[in-house]
Amino acid sequence: MTSFAEPVDALSGRLAEVDGRIADAARAAGRDPSAITRIVVTKFHPVSLVEQLYDLGVRDVGENRQQEFSAKADEAASLSGLRWHFIGQAQTNKARAIRAAAAAVHSVDRARLADALHAAAEPDAARLDVLLQVNLTDDHGRGGVDAAGLESLAAHAAALPSLRVRGIMAVAPLDVPPAQAFERLPSLSQTVRSVVPDAEWISAGMTADFAEAIAAGATHLRIGSAITGPRPQRG
Ligand SMILES: *Cc1c(COP(=O)(O)O)cnc(C)c1O
Repeated sequence: MTSFAEPVDALSGRLAEVDGRIADAARAAGRDPSAITRIVVTKFHPVSLVEQLYDLGVRDVGENRQQEFSAKADEAASLSGLRWHFIGQAQTNKARAIRAAAAAVHSVDRARLADALHAAAEPDAARLDVLLQVNLTDDHGRGGVDAAGLESLAAHAAALPSLRVRGIMAVAPLDVPPAQAFERLPSLSQTVRSVVPDAEWISAGMTADFAEAIAAGATHLRIGSAITGPRPQRG
């Protein structure tokens, strides 16, 4: 076996460091680190970064804007087994483009969007994994369905045969400590599971708060800058 030391560049160093912190947080919470999916959010970065991440073993990447999502997924189409997660606000008229590239859509926050994603299915398409984005704030204008509307959204989406409801997604509000905001995740998850019993995914946790999200039961982390480095300025 050859034993050339790999040059540990900045990207692989950050990836390993974050994965170490994920494993530590999981163990501290009595959870199995291998049950947690780390999605690398590559928004604003060129597709070459996605290719570098792929070479480092990353298979789950996330984007929050449809045009960038579609363009990068297209450019990186040769990277087999790479899963694209759509994590941003989605317009219904972009549902077809999103569905064409997405392994999972984390940001389903209204019945009309679920309907549009369902209507965008090709006739023999596999079911699309979707998560219901929940608003953790009291500000109704923020992204996500309010807790009071979560159960009916779950029932609506669960009735659409080309979608598979996998769980919930949330973004921590800026004005509350993340651990406090994430305390609501287990009961919100339970609300969805009362409709779809195996919808166990909880997508929560970003660079600033992934340890708190893991403590609250997150199964899918969406981590950008801690791994990619600072995002380039958008032109
Ligand atoms: C950008 C983004 C992330 C990642 O943010 P970082 O702070 O860079 O880790 C996670 N989730 C969503 C919805 C995002 O838009």
